[in-house]
Amino acid sequence: MNNNNKAANQNGNQAKRPVRQNSGNNNNGSAPLGRGASRGAAIRAQKRSHDDAQRVISSYLDQPTPKNEDRPRANFIDDSPRLKVIGLGGMDGGGSKNMMLVEYMNDAVVIDAGNDLGVDLPGINYGICDVSYLESIKHKVRAYIVTHGHLDHIGGLPHIVPKIPAPIYGSTFSIGRVEEIFQNFGLPMPDGFQLQTVTMNEDTHERLKIGNFFVELVRVTHSIPGSTVVVLDTPVGRIINTGDFRLDPNPLDHERTDTERLTALGDEGVLALFSESTTVERAGRTPSESTIQQSFVDIMNNAPGRIFIALFSTNMNRVQMLVNAAVHHNKKIALDGRSMVSTLEMAVRHGFMKIPKGTFVPIASVPNLNDQDVVVVCTGSQGEPSSALQRMANGEHRHIKLKEQDTVVLSSSPIPESGNDSLIGAMVDNLSRKGVHVFEHRNHDIDGVGPLHVSGHASRDEYADMINMIRPKFFVPIYGAYRVKQRHLELAVEQGIPRKNCVNPENGEIIEFTPNDMQVTGNVPVGTVLVDQTGEIVSSVVIKDRLLLAEEGLVAVVLTVDKKTGSLATSPDIISRGFIYMRDSEDLMTAFRTELKRAVQQRFKRVDLDRFKVELREHVTHFLFEHTGRSPIVIPVINVIGGKGGAGGGASNASKQQNGQPAVAAEVPTSEQIAAQQQKRFEEMRAKLLGQDARTD
Ligand SMILES: [Zn+2]
Repeated sequence: MNNNNKAANQNGNQAKRPVRQNSGNNNNGSAPLGRGASRGAAIRAQKRSHDDAQRVISSYLDQPTPKNEDRPRANFIDDSPRLKVIGLGGMDGGGSKNMMLVEYMNDAVVIDAGNDLGVDLPGINYGICDVSYLESIKHKVRAYIVTHGHLDHIGGLPHIVPKIPAPIYGSTFSIGRVEEIFQNFGLPMPDGFQLQTVTMNEDTHERLKIGNFFVELVRVTHSIPGSTVVVLDTPVGRIINTGDFRLDPNPLDHERTDTERLTALGDEGVLALFSESTTVERAGRTPSESTIQQSFVDIMNNAPGRIFIALFSTNMNRVQMLVNAAVHHNKKIALDGRSMVSTLEMAVRHGFMKIPKGTFVPIASVPNLNDQDVVVVCTGSQGEPSSALQRMANGEHRHIKLKEQDTVVLSSSPIPESGNDSLIGAMVDNLSRKGVHVFEHRNHDIDGVGPLHVSGHASRDEYADMINMIRPKFFVPIYGAYRVKQRHLELAVEQGIPRKNCVNPENGEIIEFTPNDMQVTGNVPVGTVLVDQTGEIVSSVVIKDRLLLAEEGLVAVVLTVDKKTGSLATSPDIISRGFIYMRDSEDLMTAFRTELKRAVQQRFKRVDLDRFKVELREHVTHFLFEHTGRSPIVIPVINVIGGKGGAGGGASNASKQQNGQPAVAAEVPTSEQIAAQQQKRFEEMRAKLLGQDARTD
């Protein structure tokens, strides 16, 4: 999705650039103000820039409304209350703000509320679901239930729950993760807000009543402990949301998917299965997590010096495996990366990790240990900027200076469609330049070691197994791109689910159920709310300006106009950022100043100040487009001296006042003095704004 945006943007740019004109053109200043051969072209170009920016933002904010005509429509025979299920997010791509709403009469529960770290807009950290529909039924919301503790399933909670409060249900580990992200959330919670959590046992078939519903969690294997399927018994029937899963027959923590329970639930009858679709296009079965164990033992046996292993920060079973291997080899472990340390502390507190005393050493102590005696486990396997491994690769780490003989292992694969491949590639280049040997999973055959990573998601045969265990009446693929979900739907049909009983939903589509029917009946508003590094929501207006600034730059013109004469009191002050480098464009700047002088002389006294600003902005936009083929954001600042009141017509009043009170006028600085003062003030202001880089005109 992000790649498409970029492509659309680039195409837009190609289309809108006109042939550049000679910058000496129009220097005589004879063209009437605001008119010219290419004024229309300038306006159109500017509009295109705005449209491009709007399109990029809109692809996140307003999701396209799907055509319901294409949907299977059966007329409900009975008018009994219906169960509504709405995918508020995650129906358009894997790893994105997954969120599903279940609503029946006066009760509603939300399953998962993730964030989307793949939003590619300037200054934006992630997106969360637009929850305006949820707010409209706020009084019905009884609970949030989380399938597991990955951010694309829980990362939206600190934004959403304080606004629409309800207890959060989940397994011990998932609730530990929820508490962790609330604690680490950058912004204060609203007054009086209390995080309420309910921890459920995923092994005992414990069932809790929530409004008209009963909820049960069932253990599944994934790449984070405590992953669960959510079983929701509703008055209309039983529905199941799988969360993220794989059916690992031999997981590192020996806690297999509870297939017996899933089969038993299927035997009792399931109205609808909502199954995640992330890697349904992968044939066969995902290899067991335990297949990578020997590879790490081999590397620890053979590496000549220190070993650095990067992996996803929440994959605690893999951290445990590395701890076991290190202990076996008499090595200490140093952990680095804030998110990993935070999750490990939580996991230890809840008894998920078995760490022999003295195994961990501080990262700062690594340089003092023998190279053979230490393994560093850290974040950065996706080449994330400012992650622990990235800082080491760039030589910016406080404690670690990588050296030849060091070994780095990336125990992960690039997240599909994330664009992380190039980040990882650049990081591995930097590591290689330091003479470090880098093991990557994709090259493990060349390196003569076993696999270094396995996916946390199922492959095709396991997705089929899930359908066959549950044997639902209706099947709805969720948490994946449309095309991937369609594959999943076809797989369900192959497994014997009638095609008319399957639907591939879009975000916001209302799927209504009776005990015998399923149909899409309408839409609720959905979209993305954008969040910056501090956790604050960022308005789309701000993002649009950022996109325009990034594409076209900014030009500010500061004019000091003498009210009496209606002409410039000083040379125009021009500030350009991200537009053109003014030192290299002296001819254009000279022409630009001449043009500004002429504009002031012709128009300032004839129109009021607001009108003059509008005209000036249009005129400058036109002038710059004509000479450069670009449409920067133009900010006119007009400083009027020599009288009170507005521009233009106000000038004569100011003159009268001064004439009528000569004694006072003598103490009032002359307009030249004011102009000089203002000029100085602007220079100081600009120097402050732009630092040493300020250009002095
Ligand atoms: Zn997950």
